[in-house]
Amino acid sequence: MRLDALFERRPRTLSFEFFPPKNERAWHTLEDTIEQLAPLGPDFVSVTYGAGGSTRARTREVVQHIQARSGLTAMAHLTCVGASRNELRAILAEYAAAGIVNILALRGDPPQGETRFSPPPDGCRYASELIDLVRDDGRFAILCAAYPEGHPEAPSRAADWAFLADKLRRGACAAITQCFFELAPYLELVRHLTALLGRRPRIIPGILPIVDYQALQRFCQRCGANIPPALAARLAACAADRVAMRKEGIAYTIALCRELLHAGAPGLHIYALNRSTAAAEIVTALRLEGCLP
Ligand SMILES: Cc1cc2nc3c(=O)[nH]c(=O)nc-3n(C[C@H](O)[C@H](O)[C@H](O)COP(=O)(O)OP(=O)(O)OC[C@H]3O[C@@H](n4cnc5c(N)ncnc54)[C@H](O)[C@@H]3O)c2cc1C
Repeated sequence: MRLDALFERRPRTLSFEFFPPKNERAWHTLEDTIEQLAPLGPDFVSVTYGAGGSTRARTREVVQHIQARSGLTAMAHLTCVGASRNELRAILAEYAAAGIVNILALRGDPPQGETRFSPPPDGCRYASELIDLVRDDGRFAILCAAYPEGHPEAPSRAADWAFLADKLRRGACAAITQCFFELAPYLELVRHLTALLGRRPRIIPGILPIVDYQALQRFCQRCGANIPPALAARLAACAADRVAMRKEGIAYTIALCRELLHAGAPGLHIYALNRSTAAAEIVTALRLEGCLP
């Protein structure tokens, strides 16, 4: 099902994000994860596109597999990295032939060791250009990325959010955010975008389940998200006891989700990282509280 049509009917959605497994064992882990998360009734799931475009075929295969085996609505991520416009059009044709109708259109990160993104000849420089290309194809619902703290390369949050408004004007029906750990930046982003667009856009919070302080630090270092000092202190205080730290992290994540949903967020997109336990705990707790349908 196309997500633009789904969003018309569902004011709030629940979704999970996975990455393409690297080997057969990891395939089985992902299959088990999907089997365990499917009964929670996610509205859709998404599958990332590897850095440097390295998982082009696997992203397609995983989305196709999920749609065929579990019947879940799925979305393929796609980046501009390492592909000319013609190559991107060829990928879209492959996606369409595989029955994929939803795309998260991204620029992608510069390759490791490089600080600036440079597209190949006749490639797309920004996600907005990829959005144009996908929109012109006409076969896909398009989503884009958003950054409550501003994208790390942007000169300012305001500049980054103006580019986000541009992505939404050009044809993205919704945005999913980078992970963040406080309510305020998300609310500021929504307020700012509402003023720029003259309507409230659908900005779905991306939620990283916190289970381990070191893993959280690594993830945030990679994506440029900030860990608030209060959260860092809470996790550091129980760093010697992994069970206590996990409990603290999950409680923090549930509290953030609760605040977001009370503030009117149009659902949650959980970075499940191919594991089911933390995501399931969070969703179950929020359902018991009546925060999620
Ligand atoms: C929900 C989510 C899922 C993701 N999934 C993946 C994935 O599967 N694979 C992957 O490799 N990466 C993924 N990423 C990471 C993403 O590729 C990086 O954050 C990347 O650095 C930026 O991508 P973007 O689509 O936001 O780029 P853009 O929107 O193009 O923005 C990139 C930078 O350029 C600036 N900019 C935008 N337009 C203009 C303009 N016209 N002129 C000047 N500056 C401009 C922006 O402010 C920003 O600093 C994901 C991110 C999120 C939030």
